Amino acid sequence: MKKGKKLYEGKAKIIYATSDKNLVIQYFKDDATAFNNLKKTTIEGKGVLNNRISEHILNNLSQIGIKNHLVKRLNMREQIIKFVEIIPIEFIVRNVATGSITKRLGIEDGTVLKHPLLEFCLKDDELGDPLIAEEHILAFDWATKHELEKVKKMILRINDFMIGMFRGVGIKLIDFKLEFGRFKSNGKTEIILADEISPDTCRLWDSITDKKLDKDRFRKNLGDLIPAYTEVAKRLGILHEQSNVSSVNVTKLRSIKKKR
Ligand code: 5GP
Repeated sequence: MKKGKKLYEGKAKIIYATSDKNLVIQYFKDDATAFNNLKKTTIEGKGVLNNRISEHILNNLSQIGIKNHLVKRLNMREQIIKFVEIIPIEFIVRNVATGSITKRLGIEDGTVLKHPLLEFCLKDDELGDPLIAEEHILAFDWATKHELEKVKKMILRINDFMIGMFRGVGIKLIDFKLEFGRFKSNGKTEIILADEISPDTCRLWDSITDKKLDKDRFRKNLGDLIPAYTEVAKRLGILHEQSNVSSVNVTKLRSIKKKR
């Protein structure tokens, strides 16, 4: 499939057109940003790992009937995905209170929630992705009541599935962010899961030690982000215990860059 012009560049990904108007290519960058772009860096190999981890999770979700935008992974950094109109809402699912909710509401860090808590944020960098109520979504037509009900049902299933998947490999799914989009084809529109699911968009803690295996390593200057993401990939069975695909490629990349 031929890669066309760049359609959109976000903080962690680039979207390119293809010869098929219903499909685009999603490229995973190595850029890491936090605190609404105030903190930025490049972490070699992060995009490669997120591409693989997100592919694995979305493929598993497909198998339990969660429709999503992934068509197939193309290479180390790219996937073919369905071209959707993104609903401008970040759907945040929390199983354990940490991060922004602890500051916003004074909840003790690490409080296990009785039920998953769903929060909505408007996807707007200039406004700092503000927390909004369901009523705002309806009042401003960001999604219809029907779409919201559908999304909420999907979210509960995604959360149940992901909690189990990560629990099986010794990881606690603390919280995560999801995005959904409208896929239009043959005159029909359906709501599907979009974006990525990776350690960039989830908080993942080791079940025994509570070690952080996610983007908080960057946000909180904990270091060793690539080994943590690699650990997630290995535990999910994406990378073999012995072979360390990502670090081999990162080392290769470094030596290629040095030679230039
Ligand atoms: P918090 O609201 O505590 O900062 O984030 C809650 C969860 O949603 C975390 O897992 C965090 O990674 C994810 N999340 C929230 N907003 C964003 C965002 O703009 N980008 C990414 N990558 N993840 C986000």
